[in-house]
Amino acid sequence: MIEKQYAVIGLGRFGSSLSRELVKLGYEVLGIDINEERVHEMSQVLTHTVVADCTEEEVLRSLGIRNFDCVVVAIGNDMQASILTAIVLKDAGVTKVVAKALSELHGKVLQKIGVDRVIYPERDMGIRVAHQLVSPNLLDY
Ligand code: ATP
Repeated sequence: MIEKQYAVIGLGRFGSSLSRELVKLGYEVLGIDINEERVHEMSQVLTHTVVADCTEEEVLRSLGIRNFDCVVVAIGNDMQASILTAIVLKDAGVTKVVAKALSELHGKVLQKIGVDRVIYPERDMGIRVAHQLVSPNLLDY
């Protein structure tokens, strides 16, 4: 079986935790962030790391981004950067784009662009914890 290749854009708390876990699960992960320090912190953990502004089409194309099976946009606060990155990824032909949204409106825009899965980390975690509280025997994953 050919292993899936993942790329995670934005190595904040969410992106770094997600990419760390994917590596633990045995997958190859390219981590990209505009912030050199964040990239440096993850450089020993991830398969490959790059410092880049992912709103720039040429940068993503030169990284061969369309060859990845799944690309996660883990940029939240900078909504413009999140949306521009998602457009560039869909235009480049990435098969599966997953993006984090910080608000319903942000999520709606991402969906309209064609993002394949929108996640709301705080909202989704709240729901998951509530289920775990009422059914403590529920598996954690
Ligand atoms: P988290 O909530 O996951 O901790 P955060 O609070 O650090 O994230 P976010 O704005 O969600 O802040 O950004 C996540 C990461 O995305 C940051 O490390 C930031 O440097 C990176 N980032 C922001 N804009 C870009 C961009 N244009 N290209 C690449 N990375 C970016």
